[in-house]
Amino acid sequence: MFLKGKTAIVTGSTSGIGLAYAKALAAEGASVMINGFGDADEIEAERAALEAASGARAAYSDADMSDPAAIEAMVTQCAEELGTADIAIANAGIQHVSPIEDFPVEKWDAIIAINLSSAWHLARLTVPAMKQKGWGRIICTASAHSLVASPFKSAYNASKFGVAGIVKTVALETAQDGITVNCISPGYVWTPLIEKQIPDTMRARGMTRDEVINDVLLAAQPTKQFVTPEQVANFALYLCRDEAASITGANLSMDGGWTAQ
Ligand code: NAD
Repeated sequence: MFLKGKTAIVTGSTSGIGLAYAKALAAEGASVMINGFGDADEIEAERAALEAASGARAAYSDADMSDPAAIEAMVTQCAEELGTADIAIANAGIQHVSPIEDFPVEKWDAIIAINLSSAWHLARLTVPAMKQKGWGRIICTASAHSLVASPFKSAYNASKFGVAGIVKTVALETAQDGITVNCISPGYVWTPLIEKQIPDTMRARGMTRDEVINDVLLAAQPTKQFVTPEQVANFALYLCRDEAASITGANLSMDGGWTAQ
């Protein structure tokens, strides 16, 4: 349990990749603050399971990542209940699939706020305590869409390219403070986020469900396999190890070969 005594915040961790990060960190003994939306009883069950796995405290924040004041309150709650964050994972994210001319303005605003600005706020608010301790890990879930684009995802692509930019900048600013800042850029990972965009993609492209899965989602992924949330989470765990101290400012692909093309 190499993370005993460490505290982690994972945004958007009631589901999918974020929940996998939380479980992986807890399995290594970290005290974890989870965040996101969902059924209150299910979230409480996940929180209790994290405590059982880690032998350390786990907490939950319902902070809305589109609200900077709520992000600040989450970081304060973490400091009060678990201790200041040693590991901050900006993972909350949403998607909307639409041609540019029909793209709802409120969806653009929400995607930029949740996918991009919340990562900036999390870094801004957690760096001071990490600097004080001389150790920290900031990890963002970017995407293959931080390196290459797909049509109909203008807001998502913009947000993820932006996340990669935040990571590089903050890595340079903290390079001598024992802090590393990186993003993991998965290809398609089978989670509720992917499941939910299938109907819109079917509409936007006039395709069946199977065509969307095989000809759109996995078309660019040479392995023809979805990445798993556990693979992403274990990559993050590696970044938390001392052996990974020289990996900073990196945009780390985990995309089944997608961006090799
Ligand atoms: P998911 O839909 O399963 O989980 C998203 C999480 O974010 C949930 O816990 C949800 O409650 C939370 N969330 C959503 N809006 C929020 C808000 N306003 N405030 C707080 N929490 C909020 O999605 P996922 O596939 O696990 O995606 C997680 C991250 O991984 C996202 O940033 C996504 O862009 C990125 N990503 C996903 C894939 C993929 O194929 N699934 C690929 C590359 C990158």
